[in-house]
Amino acid sequence: MSDYIDSYYSFSADTSTPYPQLNEDINADVCVLGGGFTGLSSALHLAKAGLSVVLVEANRIGFGATGRNGGQIVNSYSRDVDTVSQKYGQQAGDALAAMMFEGGQIIRDLIEVDNIDCDYVRGGAFVAVNGKQMRELEHHQRLWEQHGNNAMQLHDQSSLGSIIKSQRYVGGLTDGLSGHIHPLKLALGEAKLITQLGGRIFEQSPVTKVETGETTIVHTPNGKIRAKFMVVAGNAYLSHVMPELTKKSMPCGTQIVTTEVLGEELCQQLIPQNHCIEDCNYLLDYFRITADQRLLYGGGVVYGGRDPKDIERLVRPKLEKTFPQLKGIKIDFAWTGNFLLTLSRLPEFGRLGHNIYYMQGYSGHGVTCTHLAGKLVAEAIKGQASRFDAFSQLPHLPLFGGRALQIPFTALGASYYNLRDQLGI
Ligand SMILES: Cc1cc2nc3c(=O)[nH]c(=O)nc-3n(C[C@H](O)[C@H](O)[C@H](O)COP(=O)(O)OP(=O)(O)OC[C@H]3O[C@@H](n4cnc5c(N)ncnc54)[C@H](O)[C@@H]3O)c2cc1C
Repeated sequence: MSDYIDSYYSFSADTSTPYPQLNEDINADVCVLGGGFTGLSSALHLAKAGLSVVLVEANRIGFGATGRNGGQIVNSYSRDVDTVSQKYGQQAGDALAAMMFEGGQIIRDLIEVDNIDCDYVRGGAFVAVNGKQMRELEHHQRLWEQHGNNAMQLHDQSSLGSIIKSQRYVGGLTDGLSGHIHPLKLALGEAKLITQLGGRIFEQSPVTKVETGETTIVHTPNGKIRAKFMVVAGNAYLSHVMPELTKKSMPCGTQIVTTEVLGEELCQQLIPQNHCIEDCNYLLDYFRITADQRLLYGGGVVYGGRDPKDIERLVRPKLEKTFPQLKGIKIDFAWTGNFLLTLSRLPEFGRLGHNIYYMQGYSGHGVTCTHLAGKLVAEAIKGQASRFDAFSQLPHLPLFGGRALQIPFTALGASYYNLRDQLGI
């Protein structure tokens, strides 16, 4: 059990009022394990649907990837829907395509209808480092437009100057349905909304054992929850409590730094319209300006999710390659976080028995899909499972040789794809 890690997010959000620890035995319709976006969105949609919900978090709300991420609202999934159609059939691709912008809409509603204050800025951009990536972006635009996103615009190298002042990119694609948020503020706002709807939240209450059956009994060190349904949303931070959920995915670390405050003028000279930006490399860089005018810059992957010793040493060269004008800039915060990678890079949803649901493995892009996942599991528990099952029916292969053996293989594969990115082939 831990408090928040030292990051720009824990520094700039009000985390001073913790939720209590579970110290009693209680009953609920649904028990949710995990207070990240997946668990919070599930609890929120279930509470809105009138069910009694208890959410138990091992540490603090947003302790995991949710309170550490780049804050980029990236639409769709970590694999495009035409790839889903090619690999798993037209029906599977169409079903996912019909939901590909829904997670982003859920977030915008939380901000605009439920008034969660989380430093939201509309607009994001993908940027290309070579011609091959530019052609991929053109394809991307056609595909997303076919499915209803008409807020995208392609930029060649010269017009991209109005989006980002960096010589590194040959062009880009902006998306008006994208944008950026302070993810920990959003998570804390969602938690508050859950309690306002009658849901109960307990922090520092790790699930240590789950007894399955008609009623699920969820054990924590000082209290139990008896629930008709359980939602497991521990993602890369899920401890050994459910080993069956660790076989088809691997935790991976990615690192972020935040500079000292740069001031409005310098920020304007980096990202003039305040978009969030990610490049199209396999091992991608992602960055944006924060509400208090720092550059928040993430990049790199550590397979297996080990904590690297010197994060600044890993990320600073990437930051300075993109923005040489910031050479030597002071870094105020540096942290790491784990996301969960599946072999197909599609999320892994499913059931254990008939009343335990799980959603995990968003493979790097999870801010929107976690919000969709929560909505879909609430529908499924209420008896409408077709949209949840569009995901749960996607096949997922176990990691050959388990996680330990996969780490070197995955790193080797990533190096190969990264080299292809650099060479533009
Ligand atoms: C550094 C970083 C940058 C990223 N940037 C982006 C981005 O810009 N855009 C984007 O779309 N995606 C991004 N992602 C991915 C995105 O953050 C994740 O996909 C998403 O937050 C996953 O949410 P989650 O709720 O499933 O998992 P998490 O947020 O990891 O939450 C899981 C929670 O479960 C709790 N838990 C685990 N075991 C137990 C237990 N036994 N009992 C009780 N609680 C337990 C953990 O403490 C944790 O709080 C990034 C990820 C990282 C790590």
